[in-house]
Amino acid sequence: KQASINNINYLQHSQQETDLIDRRYRLMDELRNTIRGGKLSVMLQPKVCLSTGKVVGFESLARWQRDDGCFVPPDEFIAIAEASGLIIKLDCLIFEKTMEALKTLISLGYRIPVAFNASSFDLLHPDYFNFVANCLVSFDIAPELLDLEVTETQSMSDYERIQKCLQRFVALGIKISIDDFGTGYSSLAHISNITANSIKIDRSFVSKLETDKNSEHVINMILKLGKQFDFSIVAEGIETEYQKQWLSNAGCDIGQGYLFARPMGIHDLIEWLAADKRR
Ligand code: C2E
Ligand code: MG
Ligand code: MG
Ligand code: MG
Repeated sequence: KQASINNINYLQHSQQETDLIDRRYRLMDELRNTIRGGKLSVMLQPKVCLSTGKVVGFESLARWQRDDGCFVPPDEFIAIAEASGLIIKLDCLIFEKTMEALKTLISLGYRIPVAFNASSFDLLHPDYFNFVANCLVSFDIAPELLDLEVTETQSMSDYERIQKCLQRFVALGIKISIDDFGTGYSSLAHISNITANSIKIDRSFVSKLETDKNSEHVINMILKLGKQFDFSIVAEGIETEYQKQWLSNAGCDIGQGYLFARPMGIHDLIEWLAADKRR
């Protein structure tokens, strides 16, 4: 009797797994076609100076809307793209769209840097750097207006090789940010010589500020250490006035989050900027 119950559980579990694998395969095929058709889009989210409210940058974020109108969450489709080798094409497409948005902003008089997300697979790919470098020339955009974000976990995964790749971007004049900082393992050993201009404190610490004393300690430590090594420090995922005030008092300069603005398409962003006197 016991054996047959176990058997039923096993079958149910395995059906769920099969569904999940099916979904991933379907999405992978669809994503390949979507990339081929150039049909991903970007949204831009402002980064603001916590003491003045002034906009100091944007982050470009990939968006995928399927034919039925539903959006697939980036965490899901980026993971699929990384696992299937589609990520390099995806990120090149997103980079191009980011450059178009940046070009529009510049034409309206906004010379504000835009950050783009790169995967470690991109950095290690032989064509990615040249693609980015060629885009800078063809779009005629100053490299200082670009900021490459790579997650801490990925930048530490193959440290020496990734550092070498990042240094090529630095030589070109592009800034580097370490994304989701605090979630990786081995960065303390490397923080003194890591190739980066800024570090972004992971949203998980910011979101627990009201409820968990430990996140205060972690953030204070990141701020102290980061300043010691001259990084500019950005807090991600600020949603409440309390979080903003706490971070500002703790000495964090820059923030990003729904409290200030959600990621927006270029037209909404232009309206938002025009309405915001501080810019
Ligand atoms: P990320 O680079 O850490 O981007 C920040 C994420 O936090 C974005 O999620 C953004 O929408 C979200 N966010 C910003 N403010 C708030 C807030 O106040 N509250 C909450 N709850 N969330 C906030 P999104 O757009 O879903 O992207 C998720 C992740 O997917 C990104 O995390 C990044 O790692 C990856 N990703 C997105 N676009 C790209 C891309 O073009 N290329 C690559 N390689 N990865 C990307
Ligand atoms: Mg990012
Ligand atoms: Mg992040
Ligand atoms: Mg993140």
